[in-house]
Amino acid sequence: MISIIQEEFKKRFGEGATCYASPGRVNLIGDHTDYNLGFVLPGAIDKAIYVAIRPTEGPVSRLYSVDYKELLEIDMNGALPDKLWARFIYGVVQEMKKRGATVGAFECVFGGDVPLGAGLSSSAALESVFGYALNDLFGLGFSRADLARIGQMTEHNYVGVKCGIMDEFASLFGQKGKVIRLDCRSLEYELVSFEPVGCRVMLIDSMVKHSLASSEYNVRREQCEAGVAVVAKHVQGVESLRDVTMDMLDTYKSEMEPIVYRRCAYVIHENQRLLEGCEFLKKGDYKAFGQKMFGSHEGLSREYEVSCEELDFIEEIARETPGMLGARMMGGGFGGCVIHLVEEKVHDAYLEEVKSRFQARFGQTPRVIDVVIGDGARKLI
Ligand code: ADP
Ligand code: MG
Repeated sequence: MISIIQEEFKKRFGEGATCYASPGRVNLIGDHTDYNLGFVLPGAIDKAIYVAIRPTEGPVSRLYSVDYKELLEIDMNGALPDKLWARFIYGVVQEMKKRGATVGAFECVFGGDVPLGAGLSSSAALESVFGYALNDLFGLGFSRADLARIGQMTEHNYVGVKCGIMDEFASLFGQKGKVIRLDCRSLEYELVSFEPVGCRVMLIDSMVKHSLASSEYNVRREQCEAGVAVVAKHVQGVESLRDVTMDMLDTYKSEMEPIVYRRCAYVIHENQRLLEGCEFLKKGDYKAFGQKMFGSHEGLSREYEVSCEELDFIEEIARETPGMLGARMMGGGFGGCVIHLVEEKVHDAYLEEVKSRFQARFGQTPRVIDVVIGDGARKLI
């Protein structure tokens, strides 16, 4: 991939490019916990966006997308570009300027192998690689945490996606063989060893689009807030579900709708599963960790109700498969991928089984994405 980008750069702009990469991510456990100020456990993956880039004179930057085969000339002091992919880059520059940086014009060629819209956060990889590259190229002095915030604010202000910070954080802070236990309240993080020998991390894309995702997402947020409001009437200092224990929730259960109770219970349990799961990872007990993944799916499906038939179908086959350590839907829900932690020796047979059964039931073959936990944003050459 990187050599294609370098070649294209030479052809279009000549010599003198510096190359950078920043990856997509998976989240091993902890969904819908971020906006409740809980924990998430992402890891960067071995699929990334790559850029070859060089500063240039004058007001106009030249951006070539290898994957879209499009060249755009953009004045970063001018108006918001129409093309979505260019908004990510334009947005990063604007967010840097807001923070006092002087960002010069540049010429670049970029592309990557993070599948788009599959829940692996190709958009965060794109923001992060440009953030990292421009910061290095122009000596701007931003920290990785600053760059994560710049990426997140790019999504908010120039793309219209009000996302949390997990994706950018993972893309920038990831390390090979490590996952990131990120506290979404304080943004403190801990790298936790993740090297399951003889196992693979694999995703199966249900190919279902998230049509319900945004409206249901808002409903879930409101239900969580409703639960917090009930407990906060009685217990001082409760501001989010992070401050609520199962004991508190049970004590005031009668004052809330049963559905609100279930939603809140899921979030509290998911944080517990994640924290306990990290302790298992530290001991190298991947089997016990995998059980937490299955538990997470059950919670997402039954208590939080953000799964769908296709995701449940895949997860159920996974659960029945000996040698499958864990599996769960990943992301906001109503579609997207099931992430698996699977023993190498059953990987192929499981895939065959799940593909043919999925095909028979839903009439299409799900896409398979194998990933390895890899390094975060970096300079290549
Ligand atoms: P994801 O879940 O993968 O982040 P998004 O819809 O948030 O999906 O972001 C996908 C968008 O990011 C694409 O529509 C495109 O604008 C941009 N993008 C991602 N990868 C690339 C790429 N390799 N080349 C150009 N643009 C990309
Ligand atoms: Mg995205």
